[in-house]
Amino acid sequence: MNLESIPLSNGVKMPRLGYGVYQVDPTTCEASVREALEVGYRAIDTAQAYHNEEGVGRAIKGSGLPRGDIFLTTKVWVSNAGQEKARASIEESLRKLQTDYIDLLLIHQPFNDYYGTWRAMEEAYKAGKVRAIGVSNFLPHHLEPLLKTEVAPMVNQVECNPGCQQKQTLAYCRDHGILVEAWSPLGSGKLLEDPKLKEFGQKYGRSTAQICLRWCLQKGHLPLPKSVTPVRIKENLQLFDFQISQEDMAVIDKLECVGRTGSDPDNAKF
Ligand code: NDP
Repeated sequence: MNLESIPLSNGVKMPRLGYGVYQVDPTTCEASVREALEVGYRAIDTAQAYHNEEGVGRAIKGSGLPRGDIFLTTKVWVSNAGQEKARASIEESLRKLQTDYIDLLLIHQPFNDYYGTWRAMEEAYKAGKVRAIGVSNFLPHHLEPLLKTEVAPMVNQVECNPGCQQKQTLAYCRDHGILVEAWSPLGSGKLLEDPKLKEFGQKYGRSTAQICLRWCLQKGHLPLPKSVTPVRIKENLQLFDFQISQEDMAVIDKLECVGRTGSDPDNAKF
């Protein structure tokens, strides 16, 4: 499968869809990521806080694919915030992932000393240890100060699906050339019971999950579905041979049915 790619603001290209490994058990993560790579995913999204970077690293090593064919993302967790701790944690992630470089490194949450974390990430970027840097769960007021730094964020990974559209944050990102990655693009599975989305699935002869993911793609966001079920891993990749009409996109745009399933970045406790 030849996945389309999208350029980040620094010109680095990334596949239009990634495979997420949040809540994938560290003991089975290697097998799941191997499965994903075998069926054609080329972007993998992990994080220090998922405790499965080692499994991801083993899967990539064992896949036999050239490292350059895979786009690897990890995230610095809040307990590693601050310049020195973040710097050490980046080295630790590189070791666990068994790689010389990370394609995309994100600040996982806007908590603790994330300015210090950003400085460590800028250093890693300039040293060639990281090809692109960005943030996750940042609202416009968290992003604003980082836009004045030497290297501006290239990505914001936020909860985004037809039931949680975060229109203000997404518009802000678009206006500032920041690519939006959609986490929980299926609303962690909850969205798949929505009657309207199910109806669209029937209309297009696709699963409800594929409707959610295709909606994300057509909005210009980069979806990161997670599944440990082989048939679903494959299904979530089959999105490039159909299109949702503008009319139906407009109906989905108005759904806003589920709301946020993750924590509110302004009120979360870690
Ligand atoms: P998703 O929206 O991807 O939903 C995953 C759930 O949906 C699982 O229960 C999965 O089941 C099920 N599922 C997947 N595909 C299908 C399908 N085709 N049909 C029916 N059910 C399906 O939620 P996640 O919360 O896991 O988010 C995805 C990724 O986003 C994460 O893995 C992570 O990479 C990222 N993320 C980032 C966060 C952040 O703070 N930056 C926070 C949360 C997630 P099963 O696995 O059993 O098949």
